[in-house]
Amino acid sequence: MSISDSERVATVLESSGYKKTNNINEAGLAVVVMCSVRQSAVDRVIGLGQKIKKLKVKNPALKSTLTGCILKKDKKMLEERFDSVLEISDFFAAWQKSHCNYLEIKPKYNSKNSAFVPIMTGCNNFCSYCVVPYTRGREISRPSKKIISEIKKLIKNGYKEIWLLGQNVNSYSNVLENNGIVNFPKLLKMVDDIPGNFKLNFLTSHPKDFSDELIKTMAKCKKLSKRLNLPIQSGDDKILKKMNRPYTISQYKNLVKKIRKTIPDISISTDVIVGFPGETKKQFENTVKAFKEIGFDMAFVNKYSPRLGTAAEKMKDNVSWTEKKRREKVLIELVNKK
Ligand code: SF4
Repeated sequence: MSISDSERVATVLESSGYKKTNNINEAGLAVVVMCSVRQSAVDRVIGLGQKIKKLKVKNPALKSTLTGCILKKDKKMLEERFDSVLEISDFFAAWQKSHCNYLEIKPKYNSKNSAFVPIMTGCNNFCSYCVVPYTRGREISRPSKKIISEIKKLIKNGYKEIWLLGQNVNSYSNVLENNGIVNFPKLLKMVDDIPGNFKLNFLTSHPKDFSDELIKTMAKCKKLSKRLNLPIQSGDDKILKKMNRPYTISQYKNLVKKIRKTIPDISISTDVIVGFPGETKKQFENTVKAFKEIGFDMAFVNKYSPRLGTAAEKMKDNVSWTEKKRREKVLIELVNKK
């Protein structure tokens, strides 16, 4: 999503007369598009703010703006490091002097081959460790007509890969003028039916919104890639509950079974957090067990770190960093073995 936001930021600035430079020493304006999901990402932005401040000593005309996913609680601290700090929709409102839905800005895509197309933004799920519902707000789906028209143009212009993006793509829902509803499976089929030679992908989906209709549609789609990312986050029911992830590990395993039965050659990757507050060695072993049973093709393993403003921040972060690193290594080795 940050890449897609950056493409829109660059497009708006270029239409206001700015030119891109790869050399920050030449820049008159530095715009940083941040992601707030992990504390480490926020720390990197703080470092970048300090670097820009040093550059301003040599070049006092240099201005800096921070935008993207910004948590209200972080704003004051970030304002000390950047000349202006604007949430993503405020950034576009300021530069375009209007409050249109910024997802409708036609970006200049970074690549000539592969394009990220946001279909929705925001999230209603409030996983206890995540800031997205606070930074991006509630879910908003783009009108299906606009998505289809954008993709048709991309295909006509020779794009070979389309990524449908959103924090929770499978809860996509757009009400049509005639009161019909386009849900995610319907949208996927509509995109897949666009004539042309291209590959289709989507990111990211929530297991609780993964319907039978979606699985059947995926099996029918001819252009959809056979790769799926399905975040498990933990293999222990109690930890899933503390994470506010409304499924059990047995429901997750049944879902994977159903997907593999309907689409036998699918490759499944996952996201998982190790060392969540209170995660005991036994609970971590349940995650190891789930990994062994499911046999993921790839996994993005994240060591838990508290994120300001989330429900989990109030929980005691009682798993040591060394133990988190050990747990991370165990899961990575398991996936690598496969
Ligand atoms: S579903 Fe994803 S984006 Fe939404 S709160 Fe959970 S982790 Fe964050």
